[in-house]
Amino acid sequence: MRRVYNFSAGPAVLPEEVLREAADEMLDYKGTGMSVMEMSHRSKAYDTIIKEAEADLRDLMKIPENYKVLFLQGGASQQFAMIPMNLMKNKVADYIVTGQWAKKAYQEAQIYGKANKIASSEDETFSYIPDCTDLPISEDADYVYICENNTIYGTKFKTLPDTKGKPLVADVSSCFLSEPVDVTKYGVIYGGVQKNIGPAGVVIVIIRKDLITEDVLPGTPTMLRYKIHADNESLYNTPPAYGIYICGKVFKWLKKQGGLEAMKEYNEKKAKILYDFLDQSKMFRGTVRKEDRSLMNVPFVTGDGELDAKFVKEAREAGFENLKGHRSVGGMRASIYNAMPMEGVEKLVEFMGKFEAENQNT
Ligand SMILES: *Cc1c(COP(=O)(O)O)cnc(C)c1O
Repeated sequence: MRRVYNFSAGPAVLPEEVLREAADEMLDYKGTGMSVMEMSHRSKAYDTIIKEAEADLRDLMKIPENYKVLFLQGGASQQFAMIPMNLMKNKVADYIVTGQWAKKAYQEAQIYGKANKIASSEDETFSYIPDCTDLPISEDADYVYICENNTIYGTKFKTLPDTKGKPLVADVSSCFLSEPVDVTKYGVIYGGVQKNIGPAGVVIVIIRKDLITEDVLPGTPTMLRYKIHADNESLYNTPPAYGIYICGKVFKWLKKQGGLEAMKEYNEKKAKILYDFLDQSKMFRGTVRKEDRSLMNVPFVTGDGELDAKFVKEAREAGFENLKGHRSVGGMRASIYNAMPMEGVEKLVEFMGKFEAENQNT
């Protein structure tokens, strides 16, 4: 068997321990005589799986009682529509555009109402987080929207914007469970799980209960109403059952690692190894403003497209996969999510040092 160091931005690396457990339970889940994939989502065994997953997630994130946890489908991209459809009572929302995903959400919201771009970092190819301490929040805004960690560009909000009392909606797809969060600061926290939690096909939405209402935009399909899913405990229709089961295992794995405080410490150490290397390198450099650097996605370049391509190719041959940057930015990107071991980053940096020494004069 061969396992590589997988630096993919998503779907991404999962804890090996979780994969082994799932493999062990593949043919006979806890004496049921069937795989979780073959199981009714209305069965007792599955009821325990989804309830435990929610309880462990609540525990990890300290989610208060007045928030609902929903396990949905449609990817993070479906939330770009579901959020305005459900929350735009006044048909006004404010968007902070810090990357491609935020921009897509902003564009989608324009279908449903007046979406205002109240801040953006597009002027410098999204390489920083704009100052959000005193934004022109609209008087009648239904919510303020951010993408908290910008997967493609490698920036992260280190402090949340002052929304002047409006509910904050955050796409946390690529920083989900990477550090502790104060859930009470948000109206909605959501993310696709395929970046930092589990297999593609599950979206987790954590939403303050008062934001879940019948009062949605006319024409909102039943399946896109938060209330339907909330009233049915995420079992209105068949949920992404196997995916939720794997998410549940990852939650247990995270608890075993010491929870989100411990993950933060580990992630900071891990990212520092790579950033410290980039800061002293004469060949490679990071592409974003230092104070806005993400702990999860680390883009870097040599400044020479051919050398970048050579690096990606040789890294791949050495067992470091998916280091090519997003097609919209080029260069390289190392995604170092929770499940990427410290050793993976140490070895990557060692490899980069060797590559630099060998290619100094090109
Ligand atoms: C990957 C990603 C998305 C898109 O997710 P899908 O599940 O493919 O729709 C949205 N937002 C962020 C921050 C992402 O990283």
